[in-house]
Amino acid sequence: MQKLKMELPLWIQPGTRHARWFGPLEEVDGAQVPRLIGVLNCEPGMGKTFDIGLERLTGGCEFPTGSAINTIDRGRLEKEGSATFRGARAEASELHALRGALRGTFFLETFGCQMNDHDSEKVAGVLLSRGYTQVASPESASLILYNTCSIREKAAQKVFSRLGEFGLTENAGRIIGVLGCVAQQEGEEIFRRAPWVSLVCGSASYSKLPELLAQVEAGNQRVTGLDTDTDETFETEITRRDNPWRAYLTIIEGCDKACSYCVVPYTRGPERSRASDAILREVRQLAELGYSEVQLLGQTVNSYLDPTPGKMRFSELLLAVADQVGIRRVRFTTSHPSDFTQDIVDALDSQPKLCNHVHLPVQSGSTRVLRAMQRTYSREEYLEKIGMIRGAKRAISITTDIIVGFPGETDEDLAETLSLLDAVKYDNVFSFKYSPRPHTPSLAMSGLISEEEKSRRLALLQEKQREIQTARHLTMVGEKFELLVSGKSRRENQWSGHTSCHRVINFSSQEQALLGKYVQVRVTGATPNSLVGEQALGLGEPHL
Ligand code: SF4
Repeated sequence: MQKLKMELPLWIQPGTRHARWFGPLEEVDGAQVPRLIGVLNCEPGMGKTFDIGLERLTGGCEFPTGSAINTIDRGRLEKEGSATFRGARAEASELHALRGALRGTFFLETFGCQMNDHDSEKVAGVLLSRGYTQVASPESASLILYNTCSIREKAAQKVFSRLGEFGLTENAGRIIGVLGCVAQQEGEEIFRRAPWVSLVCGSASYSKLPELLAQVEAGNQRVTGLDTDTDETFETEITRRDNPWRAYLTIIEGCDKACSYCVVPYTRGPERSRASDAILREVRQLAELGYSEVQLLGQTVNSYLDPTPGKMRFSELLLAVADQVGIRRVRFTTSHPSDFTQDIVDALDSQPKLCNHVHLPVQSGSTRVLRAMQRTYSREEYLEKIGMIRGAKRAISITTDIIVGFPGETDEDLAETLSLLDAVKYDNVFSFKYSPRPHTPSLAMSGLISEEEKSRRLALLQEKQREIQTARHLTMVGEKFELLVSGKSRRENQWSGHTSCHRVINFSSQEQALLGKYVQVRVTGATPNSLVGEQALGLGEPHL
């Protein structure tokens, strides 16, 4: 059997990491166009990547022997109206035909957390594999999708405001869909509020997305995917990842906890963990594609329960991911305090590739409020977990989420939260005002706090954390960190990157082409929210 040697054209989509693979001609609307067989997520010129992508795409089927994979040089196509295939020449008419094979264009906007971002990457993968091209604005798209988190009211409002920008008339011919938690939460009500929407698909039904899209493409005006009683996770053959160096990877979906303010158990359904062997296989493929940092995701990532007979523990999975060749950093988020155990800390201690950062949401420093929130731990139990992390052999950065103004929260409760900040000295705090969400028990609670009072409490909390962070950052001046460079400023010689402990450092360097590289940076200045520095060369071992 001959594999991966073929005469089929492979078209590298300009400005992206996607290649479209075309098969024999077929008739579409009276014109002969090549049939789109699939889309590969890969870098041009990376033979191995192509091989892996093609094998995944085809399941390793047979190809006729012949010339090497054909590619089209887009730049020459635009300049000269024709292009050089590797081994052949494409005329302008062929380019036309290739473009004609594109099924449509899609615009996908995401509001929400990393889980939503990653879901969008997978949704984009599904669409690309169906022949769609991603575009940067809704105006130029034939399919417009909004993927929205509903944990905070703001995100839910945003999607309705976006939908309000469209109307039946100007939308003629366009397909509009709402995905994610808002879709799950609002269900068919979305069709009533925005009759021009054709697709409503909740996060627990993403695995059915290809079939739902097929219904929409066939002209069905009201397509829904709103089941939550699924035991499936959302896995795709092809995921279009936004960041070329750091890959998100969902290992557990849904949530079995029942926090009284949270809509996630309703919108994302019960916990479903991915098989450890499938996770490790994907990590190996990611490493082959050039990703060096992997971030394992889950609403309660450390509640992971391996469904395979091997029953790998979460800490064992972390170590196994870090062991894969080419992987240099492994992160995980979000951890639930009740499921945070000593073996996770031991794993962080034994394997430096596991990033020295734990995001451990506390939500309140008052046991009374934690009980009302149904958070399954007390202030004291939470502090025991912090003690466990602080007891590690290397320094581990700790960040958290806090909600202020939960129904019935008193000044004393708030004082306990502020004193928790002093006790823990978090490296960062993501703080929010309580916002009532549909389908949650806290909706029925008395003791609502006014918006004005919630804002006052939030300001107090943020001011205290600002002081703590400023002091913490000042101690870092002069220290050296290893950074994965992920941004280049418009200002000359200015770059930015993340440390293992998940801090952003903006730094200067005379070197070029640093994106995606690991460099050592010495901190030269600090603000409450960021650090500045300069590239350090040959100055001993950095802090990770
Ligand atoms: S642990 Fe609580 S806050 Fe987190 S997703 Fe589950 S229910 Fe929501």
